[in-house]
Amino acid sequence: MNNFVKVHVMHCGDVKVDRRLAYRDPDLDHIPFIGQRSEEYQPWLPVSCYLIEHPKGTVVIDAGWSEDVRTRPEVHLGHAYKFCHPRLPSGQSISEQLASKGLTLKSIDYVVISHMDIDHISGIHLLADAKSFLVSEPEWNGAKSYQKARCEGVVFESFSLDPIPFGPYQLGKDLFGDGLVYLVFTPGHTAGLVSVVARVENGWLLLAADAGYSKESWNQLILPGNTSNEQQALQSLQWISDFSKRDDCVAVIANHDPSVKYGIY
Ligand SMILES: [Zn+2]
Repeated sequence: MNNFVKVHVMHCGDVKVDRRLAYRDPDLDHIPFIGQRSEEYQPWLPVSCYLIEHPKGTVVIDAGWSEDVRTRPEVHLGHAYKFCHPRLPSGQSISEQLASKGLTLKSIDYVVISHMDIDHISGIHLLADAKSFLVSEPEWNGAKSYQKARCEGVVFESFSLDPIPFGPYQLGKDLFGDGLVYLVFTPGHTAGLVSVVARVENGWLLLAADAGYSKESWNQLILPGNTSNEQQALQSLQWISDFSKRDDCVAVIANHDPSVKYGIY
């Protein structure tokens, strides 16, 4: 049996947001609505999901956009439509991409949600046939009722945080209990955001979710525009920055970074 996992990087469409939402801009004290500033400040960024193939099971990290956004984005997003616009080309939803890899949804052992923001849970019902759904306890407890309502019909297991060898607080979950895939507590953007540290063939891969938006975020310690706790967000970014400098770190990948391409690690 391999002592490493394979990680597939997929982009499940894009999101148009103001740069203020990704990178703090000291001149702006609020996050502008879509359409309020020029295209230059409101780019389309990818919405990534990941597939992890572990010898004992298959894991999907985040759900991306629902296929509903193709026909009625305003209804699907509700008040969030002011701040982000979705785009989901044909073939790019999470279920379409898993099918194109020859996977059935019933074969997915875990769907892990990094955090409960809409661009990460919108497509959750596309994965409804998966075996189990995980979100961290602090994320579930901190989620708003409208976020939970978006997941109606899906039964989440909210996992408690155990001691692990990674992360700013060394808390999280060793998913298979064999040290190959860790869900790492990296809060601050939201109350219970988890990153993923996976042992791939050539070292460790860190999927940083929205703890930072690109290399620029952790190299310069630029906090996300939205935070639940600035101090925690900074500690998480500092840990990501330190991790990125390890000799055995293959890559650090943010969820919404246009420089990150489809690929397999
Ligand atoms: Zn996001």
